[in-house]
Amino acid sequence: WANMPYFRQVRELEGIPVINIHMWFDRKLTSVDHLCFSRSPLLSVYADMSTCCKEYADDERSMLELVFAPCSPLAGGKTNWIAKSDEEIVEATMKELARLFPTEIGPGAPDGGAVLRKSAVVKTPRSVYAAIPGRNKYRPSQETPIENFTLAGDWTSQKFLGSMEGAILAGKLAAEVVTDRSAGRPTQGIKSVQQHVIDEANKASEEVPVGLDLDSDSAFVYGGGEEMSQRSEEALQNQDKEQLEAATVAAR
Ligand SMILES: Cc1cc2nc3c(=O)[nH]c(=O)nc-3n(C[C@H](O)[C@H](O)[C@H](O)COP(=O)(O)OP(=O)(O)OC[C@H]3O[C@@H](n4cnc5c(N)ncnc54)[C@H](O)[C@@H]3O)c2cc1C
Repeated sequence: WANMPYFRQVRELEGIPVINIHMWFDRKLTSVDHLCFSRSPLLSVYADMSTCCKEYADDERSMLELVFAPCSPLAGGKTNWIAKSDEEIVEATMKELARLFPTEIGPGAPDGGAVLRKSAVVKTPRSVYAAIPGRNKYRPSQETPIENFTLAGDWTSQKFLGSMEGAILAGKLAAEVVTDRSAGRPTQGIKSVQQHVIDEANKASEEVPVGLDLDSDSAFVYGGGEEMSQRSEEALQNQDKEQLEAATVAAR
């Protein structure tokens, strides 16, 4: 299947890294009962889970979850944060929080500001596809050339980018393909594939797939994220070593 034009076009979509940070503080910060978008170039969205999530509810101490992005040149950042240590990432986050909330965090805040009790850094090296210009035409339809195989997922062709909305809509469209096919109704058809992909597919020979070590139980194999341990660092080194290269690279 890998060299069929329909599947080959997926090579044009590249998953970008994202980091999720969990931070437990020694006091309650001013918070709102909502997910917030930040004006920071490093922390895109965050929420005080002690306020807006029942499982973490705490009136005395805040627990922030933050999305640390862009964290690589492909995603529009200057630094490859995936290759950095957890300590460096937490330090950069604390500096950014001190800039955003100077009255509560950092040396400028009364009594030195909130103290971080503990933290967890979850790295997802291949998250949503990079929504750089010209990618939409390579997103495959849910209907595939294989009769009993249908695709879903935020990256498949639908009107939203890689997101929760995109994942839901793609799932609905996939369900439509399955029900239409099983009821013998006409489907929407397979989305056309770009000519250069067809030309490349015609010339391609069989290759050993890279990046998927099915003997590994690392979440990275399945496009997931985890806290970096020696084991996960080795998994990344074996499957996707460019992620660990050059800690600082010029932005595109
Ligand atoms: C840190 C972070 C923050 C985000 N923030 C937002 C946000 O604020 N708003 C928003 O809209 N979106 C956000 N997203 C994106 C959103 O989470 C995704 O777009 C969405 O979850 C994709 O859903 P999906 O069903 O397409 O894929 P996934 O949720 O990735 O589901 C795919 C599933 O398939 C499993 N799988 C993979 N390979 C195999 C295999 N071989 N066998 C069996 N199972 C397999 C995986 O384990 C996974 O459970 C964020 C993503 C990340 C990582």
